[in-house]
Amino acid sequence: MDETPRSDQTTLIEQLKAERDQLLGLLRALPDISFVIDEDGLYVRVIGGTNEAMYVSGKPLEGSTLQDALPESIANHFLGVVREALRTGEMQFLEYELGVEDVTALPPEIREKAADPSKQYFEGRILPLPSYDHPKPVVLWVAVNITPRKQLEQYWRQAAETDPLTGIANRRALFQKAHEEVERARRYGHPLSLLILDIDHFKSINSRFGHARGDEALRRFTRTCAELLRTNDRLGRIGGEEFVILLPETDLVGATRLGHRIVEAIASVEIDETSPVFTTTVSVGAATLEHGEGFEATLHRADQALSRAKANGRNRLETDGPHPTE
Ligand code: GH3
Ligand code: MG
Ligand code: MG
Repeated sequence: MDETPRSDQTTLIEQLKAERDQLLGLLRALPDISFVIDEDGLYVRVIGGTNEAMYVSGKPLEGSTLQDALPESIANHFLGVVREALRTGEMQFLEYELGVEDVTALPPEIREKAADPSKQYFEGRILPLPSYDHPKPVVLWVAVNITPRKQLEQYWRQAAETDPLTGIANRRALFQKAHEEVERARRYGHPLSLLILDIDHFKSINSRFGHARGDEALRRFTRTCAELLRTNDRLGRIGGEEFVILLPETDLVGATRLGHRIVEAIASVEIDETSPVFTTTVSVGAATLEHGEGFEATLHRADQALSRAKANGRNRLETDGPHPTE
């Protein structure tokens, strides 16, 4: 039995209410936005979000529901999270993407104010809010806009995988992709081939025309190859003037055909950004993944074919294994 005198109880309730109001006041001042949402998805209250670069005003959402405000699949997902927080009594974490266009319950004049109309990334923390003055159980949903962090992560990921001179995959990214493709080819029993390409006499290009023009030649070489590739083929720069092309779903005949086309195309492309205009040639080795073999072993065989192409006069392709002209 509760023995606390009634007047003390009233004081305690007053104190708790005052504390709650103080906390909500604090939330109001925070840059991030918070929502009080009930178990049916009703936006009971929208608080904070003072950072206008990150949030549009959510105030007009008060009185509408998640289902009114958001596309159905997102609303259902969010409602599930609200109910999970209420069921377990535990804080839930949710990372999600949302664009201001998705929040259809917001009036157009507010949506137009969005600093960035594209999708934004949010981290949601959703915790039950007992003793909130509402007929149904509610949660506090704190949404933090983490888009700048995500963009930075994307930037660094991209930078770590890209060769800065040519903009194509660097050695690390190419090898990573190669291992994935070998896995896939094995799993489905599909062919996978590769070409290794090395520009001929590149040292003399540099010494005759200068390093900067050598760089131009490397960029032009990359563009010329890229134009001849299919969507799933992957070109990477694995060394100074050495490149690899991964060819999923391609047998040795297909790889050889593409290799010949590249040899021909490169020889006919003029490096003409500045004068004097010059041309380059390339030597190519082709190999296809054998049963039970790893990427490095296939690459090694392709590299041996490349050495033969160099020895046989350059500006040509050789394949690993039996060759019609051998
Ligand atoms: P080969 O026909 O036998 O391949 O002759 P090569 O001169 O191309 O042979 P090698 O592989 O020994 O030389 C490659 C040269 O590529 C050496 C290096 O100075 C040059 N190189 C490597 N990276 C770059 C780069 O980023 N820019 C430029 N301009 N040159 C580079
Ligand atoms: Mg080389
Ligand atoms: Mg070379």
